Amino acid sequence: MRYLKLVELYEEISGTTKRLEKTEILSKFLRYLSSEDRDVMYLLLGDIYPEYDERRIGISNQLAIKAIAKSTGTEEKKVIHEWKVIGDLGNVAEKFTLHKKQHTLHSHILTTKKVIENLRKLPELVGKGTVGKKLGLINELLTSANPVEAKYLVRTLIGDLRIGIQESTVRESMAVAFFKKDKEISEKIQRAIDRSNDLAVVFDIVQKKKLKELDKIALQIGKPIKAMLAQKAVTIKEGFEKLGTPCAVEYKYDGFRLLIHKNNDEVKLFTRSLENVTKQFPEVVEYVKKYVKGSSFILDSEAVGFNRKTKKYTDFQAISQRIRRKYHIEKLQNELPVEVNVFDILLYNGKSQLDESFEKRTKLLRRIVKNHTYKIISSKQIITGDEKKTKEFYKQALRDNQEGVMMKNLKAEYKPGRRVGHMLKIKPDERDLDLVITGAEWGTGKRSGWLSSFILSCKGKKKGEYLEIGKVGTGVKEKSQATSHASAEASSNERRKSGESLTFEELTKKLSPLIISEKGKDVKIKPKIIVAVTYQEIQKSPNYNSGWALRFPRFTALRNDKPLSEIADIDEVIEDFKLQKRNYRYG
Ligand code: ATP
Repeated sequence: MRYLKLVELYEEISGTTKRLEKTEILSKFLRYLSSEDRDVMYLLLGDIYPEYDERRIGISNQLAIKAIAKSTGTEEKKVIHEWKVIGDLGNVAEKFTLHKKQHTLHSHILTTKKVIENLRKLPELVGKGTVGKKLGLINELLTSANPVEAKYLVRTLIGDLRIGIQESTVRESMAVAFFKKDKEISEKIQRAIDRSNDLAVVFDIVQKKKLKELDKIALQIGKPIKAMLAQKAVTIKEGFEKLGTPCAVEYKYDGFRLLIHKNNDEVKLFTRSLENVTKQFPEVVEYVKKYVKGSSFILDSEAVGFNRKTKKYTDFQAISQRIRRKYHIEKLQNELPVEVNVFDILLYNGKSQLDESFEKRTKLLRRIVKNHTYKIISSKQIITGDEKKTKEFYKQALRDNQEGVMMKNLKAEYKPGRRVGHMLKIKPDERDLDLVITGAEWGTGKRSGWLSSFILSCKGKKKGEYLEIGKVGTGVKEKSQATSHASAEASSNERRKSGESLTFEELTKKLSPLIISEKGKDVKIKPKIIVAVTYQEIQKSPNYNSGWALRFPRFTALRNDKPLSEIADIDEVIEDFKLQKRNYRYG
């Protein structure tokens, strides 16, 4: 298939924000695909492999800039300058290719097969001379591309396709293209996607209209799938009202999600974002082999850090570096040990458990996991309908340095990748601080020309000292939303609620005159603009010079009314940190 055909689809889809229209456009396109084109399903989402595959294109902006410069005969400096002005490397590539094409004729016709073939070679390249070889592969494509093709090639290379298409649109379009718009069929297709994590495999079956075959798609050990996600409940009472009684209540551990796959002697560990972290956690591999019965299984769990000396559990931030670090594993393993808390089972000895009730699954896992504290244990759990008992359990979870509790419906199945209403998380209320902005980053894409991602600081101990404590971009509105007629009402409502609603444009106007220095996209800003920020938690962090970081910060308002002298100081931050550990509010 010609790459141009796909590019025309990208253009058409990005021309509408309406989901129904997107579905219609995409379903027409899918009908046109032959079974040989199945890998185009990956390109639709800007990828070249199924989601479970670890290989990614992984081209940096810098390399893409070099490629654009070389293929269009432009100076790199010029490409960088244009990037700063336009903010989107894809559009930059389009512009320079257009310019070049006015002088030369392009040589080959690009096909999706050729694009995939070259892109798939990129992650395979390692060692000496890699950059040159990568540039060669990319340039082979770019020199054959017309301007619009170049735009999407570059966006695909840097992993930012920006056509506003999601997996759910692809699922819906498959149903519409080959069956009819029907909730049951959509659900069947979604289940197959959830279990295989492979759009091309599902497309193959759907295209042949073999609905029954879809049901046969099963989980496969070693291929990571997306974890089931929880909704929120504010109070325990609300939890029981939504789930019915009795239900399972578990500790909500403050670590990171770990999906454990075991097939005979081979154990693989995946994070929630499907990263393979087996090498980083050799001790966990050993615990799984030693303390969990069964020849093959997939377990869902949370790994939590603890202090070897005090035996106290630590927060996520303390162990987060273990996820990425590939070297000195043994040292890290000693310094930052983890305990695995298993809370679900998806497959056992070849048999999928997804459709079994949580009650059955939790019983099974408690039978097969041999508890070893500080190594691997099944999650702390009570089964109850009693509010008072649950509150006691919640308090105990917070005292044990965990985040709160999870409430789970005993009858419910496991739905990979879905945020379900049958599993609810409850944690203490959000708090807020007034802080000052001391830095920011120039935005790209939709946010180009605006400052985004703002660095927040609190007062230090010395006069005039400001200490960084986090970065925030959430809670700020895009200009278009705030000025559009439909949202004018909402934004004026919010203005009333929070004092003043913020847009990137407004913030940029206020902050630009205060810029002290610029380095690349990063700017330092004179402390003047004060903002109220809510957050869920404060954690110790080596990433900021205050030694602390806010977790999930969000702007709520500008505090024009406050003098700089009255923003939060480091003592207040530490006090909040201590308080959160003792916070037993239930809303
Ligand atoms: P979300 O996961 O809902 O997108 P989030 O990243 O903020 O939001 P949390 O609010 O921390 O996550 O809540 C869900 C997470 O809690 C799960 O993804 C899992 O990692 C963790 N968790 C800890 N203990 C449990 C448990 N007993 N059962 C299920 N999940 C648990």
